[in-house]
Amino acid sequence: MGFIMKVESFDDSVVGITSTIPVEIVFAGGLRPLDLNNIFITSPEREALLKDAESMGFSHSICAWIKGIFSVVMNYGIKRVIAVTGGDCSNTLALSELLSRNGVEVIDFNYPYNRDRKALRKEMDRMIRRFSTSWDDVLIWKSRLDKIRKKLKKIDELTYKEEKISGFENHIFLVSSSDFESDPDGFENKIDSFLHEIEMRKPNKDYIRIGYLGVPTVLDNFYEYIEELNGKVVFNEVQRQFSMPFLKDDILETYLSYTYPYDIDGRISDIKEQIRERDLDGLIHYTQAFCYRQIHDIILRRALNIPILSIEGDRPGPLDGRTALRIEAFIDMLTNK
Ligand code: SF4
Repeated sequence: MGFIMKVESFDDSVVGITSTIPVEIVFAGGLRPLDLNNIFITSPEREALLKDAESMGFSHSICAWIKGIFSVVMNYGIKRVIAVTGGDCSNTLALSELLSRNGVEVIDFNYPYNRDRKALRKEMDRMIRRFSTSWDDVLIWKSRLDKIRKKLKKIDELTYKEEKISGFENHIFLVSSSDFESDPDGFENKIDSFLHEIEMRKPNKDYIRIGYLGVPTVLDNFYEYIEELNGKVVFNEVQRQFSMPFLKDDILETYLSYTYPYDIDGRISDIKEQIRERDLDGLIHYTQAFCYRQIHDIILRRALNIPILSIEGDRPGPLDGRTALRIEAFIDMLTNK
C-alpha cells in the first residue's frame, strides 16, 4: 500500500456491498449499504487504487473492478462487506477470502442460479438473522425504497419516451440504486430536484437510438462520445436492473425478476422486450477485460437480431482511439441504414 494520497474513511454503520443485494435488509438492520464499485469508479484516485492492489500481488489479468473493490475496502477503512459469491462473479469468492484474512468481516450472499424461490428465501432469512432484523421491518423498507424506484422508472421513461434525459444521466441515477447512495432520503431529494430541473428541457428526438448491454463501463467519456456522433444511449440494461424496474409487490419476486444474477435467458428476454419498447437501432455490448461474462457475447449475438458492436474496457480512463473509431463506424453504419 502507499499509492493513495487522500483517504476518506467510513464509519461503522457502513456495510460495503460488492454487487446489488436486497438492501432492504441492511437498512432494516439500521445500517447503510455502500456499493464499493461506485466508490472505486468515482474516486479521483482510482488509478492509485488499482496500483495499490497490484502492489499487494493482484495480477494485471484480474478485472479492474475486483482490484478496485479490494483497494477501496482496505484504504477506506470499511470493516464489513457483503460479498455476492453466487450470481455475480467467480472472482468474488477468492476476494472475500482475501478480505477476511485482512481483518474484514465478510458476509456472503448467494443468488440461487436456478432462480429457486425457496433457496432465495433461505438466503434472505440468513441475512435477516445476521443483521438482527425481521421480515416486517424489511417489508417496511421495501415500501420506502419502492417509492424511490418508481421515480427512477420515471427517469428511465423520460430518457426514451420524452427524450429529455441523456444516456449518462440515466446511467448515473440507475446505477446509484444499488445502494441508494447509502442515504435514501438524500437520494430521493436529488431525484426530485433533477425531475424538476428537466421539466423545462426541450426533447431531442433526432438521433440514433442505442442500447447498452453489460456491466457498467470504466470508460469515462463513453456516453458523451456517442452523443457527439448524434447517437444516444436510451437503454442501460444492467443499471436498469439494479433499480428493480418491475416493481413487484412481493419482495422475493422482486429479486427473482432481477435478471443479472441468474442464467442469461432472463437477460435475453428482457433485452428483446426493451429493443421493441425503446425502438432501438443497435446495441453496444460492453465487456470488462478478463471477465468471464465476455463469453455471453457469443450467446447474445446469436440470440438478438439487431446490429451489435462489442467493445472492451480494462482500466478506468478515456475511450482509446481504436474503440472510439469502432463506435464511430458503428453509428455511421446505423445512420446509413
Ligand atoms: S466485470 Fe466480470 S470479472 Fe469483473 S467483477 Fe464484474 S463480473 Fe467479476
